Amino acid sequence: MQRKQTANLHIQKTNRTNIYQLLRQNGGITKQEIIHQLQLSLPTVTQNIKSLISEGLIMEDGFVGHTGGRRAKTYSIVRNARTAVGLDITRNHITAVAVDLTGGVIAQHRERYKFERSDSYYKHLGVIIKNLVEKASLAEKQILGVGIGLPALVTEDNQTIFYGEILKFTGATCKEFSKYIQYTTALCNDANAAGFAEFWIRRTPGSAFYLMLSNNIGGAVVINNQIFGGSHFHSGEIGHLTLYPQGKPCYCGQKGCVDAYLAATVLSSLCDGNLADFFQLLEQRNQKAVKLWDSYLDSLALTVNNLQAVFDSKVILGGYVGEYMEKYIDDLKRRAVKLNSFEKDADYLDVCRYKTHSIAAGAALNFIVQFIDSI
Ligand SMILES: [Zn+2]
Repeated sequence: MQRKQTANLHIQKTNRTNIYQLLRQNGGITKQEIIHQLQLSLPTVTQNIKSLISEGLIMEDGFVGHTGGRRAKTYSIVRNARTAVGLDITRNHITAVAVDLTGGVIAQHRERYKFERSDSYYKHLGVIIKNLVEKASLAEKQILGVGIGLPALVTEDNQTIFYGEILKFTGATCKEFSKYIQYTTALCNDANAAGFAEFWIRRTPGSAFYLMLSNNIGGAVVINNQIFGGSHFHSGEIGHLTLYPQGKPCYCGQKGCVDAYLAATVLSSLCDGNLADFFQLLEQRNQKAVKLWDSYLDSLALTVNNLQAVFDSKVILGGYVGEYMEKYIDDLKRRAVKLNSFEKDADYLDVCRYKTHSIAAGAALNFIVQFIDSI
């Protein structure tokens, strides 16, 4: 008897979750469509819709059908019933976003502000979040939490940085960062956050590799819809894979690493560190820029081809350079195909969608996904 009751409760919870998920993916649908798509009974659907409405998670949002005939109500989720805030902290910038339950960015802020491990910096983070919450007109109870994306390796419980040499903050804790933040807070690795955001927004279940082409190279492995951390939470760190034996020296002390060839600084160094200026020069067919871009694309083709060989999944290009890749993706695909004896095209390659917000959005999405799973 006890076992049967438990099983029934489980089915009820699954029905509720499935109805919510269906509405999250396809807004504006009727009860009949829910019944049809999920193969549920009318009383089950009616009861779940009623309870989801009373909790403020879904709403009636219109009618379908002809006037005169019977018109059916349609339902959608309340996108901002809950929201989460994400921060992206780099050496010189802070990006903050608020995202809703669909992963949509509802407010954003970006400013140049130099990182330092100090009380005044943490106070400033508190101010940024307070302003963002006001800008998005969010009530405290709508906010699930604040995710902080960092160029660092973070422990599994999201509380401590165990390797943070880029910003020299190894050992820093979530408690330290959130001293002036009134919400639940979690730290996360920047590439994993961005990779998860790019994967999640595509709504194609499965696996992917996210290649972050920023001032340092990062990567994230998604397997079966989840970030695969590896045994020591640094899987996907492909920046120090050897691309050319005995090649250019890398800051890590080795030679020929991916990072030495694909870091955004390889391009921006032509323009005093300004990547936008580099792509402008490229547009103007400046000879130096064209030559540099040509060799960059060759190295990138080699790298993505290696990734495809290992992962046999989508490879998403993000980071600072990823923001500009849309225009050059066909050229890259042509180069990648030439290196591969098994693939006829390079359709596994994809370009990031969140652009500058991917890390912050991904840091926030951790809370969104946890909440959706709990419905
Ligand atoms: Zn290296």
